[in-house]
Amino acid sequence: MLNDAPDWLNTHLAATLPDMHTNEQRMRWVIDLARENIAQQTGGPFAAAVFDINSGKLIAASVNRVESLQCSLAHAEMMALAAAERHVGHFDLSATDLDANGMACELVTSSEPCAMCFGALPWSGIRRLVCAARAVDAEKIGFDEGPKHPNWQRELERRGIAVQRDVSRDEAVAILIAYHASGGMIYNGLFMR
Ligand SMILES: [Zn+2]
Repeated sequence: MLNDAPDWLNTHLAATLPDMHTNEQRMRWVIDLARENIAQQTGGPFAAAVFDINSGKLIAASVNRVESLQCSLAHAEMMALAAAERHVGHFDLSATDLDANGMACELVTSSEPCAMCFGALPWSGIRRLVCAARAVDAEKIGFDEGPKHPNWQRELERRGIAVQRDVSRDEAVAILIAYHASGGMIYNGLFMR
């Protein structure tokens, strides 16, 4: 189920993609997916993608699908990691470091990972996390980011995962605000109790 992408995204991915050599280019592309996920009404205002750090090659991309799949696990980051792992045929994306191509994976996400997605990162084998909006930005419109470790960046870096924040943050925040203003569903552990 975590590999399920909406039809519009599969069509989008089948098209020729632009070169995305910088993190800013990759993030803008990911943010466009979040915007389209709202427009297509296929999920929440979040998107994520896995790239090869060195070449900029897209490995997998996904969007939030919690509501459309009725699956609390279906955050964009979890979906993108699952799709990338299936694509490379290994549960540990760092195993691809051994490839002749020297591939190393990064997760580019339109919003900082919540507690669940943060928890999944060390087991995924990514080597870098790139975020746009901060957790506080998602919390401002009502999402609950969960009980994340207060030193989450340091915990990731201790495990060999570099963290880069605030890449195109303003653009990602604008999408969160637009989603909220349009009456988009806000779901989380606090909301449901
Ligand atoms: Zn999450």
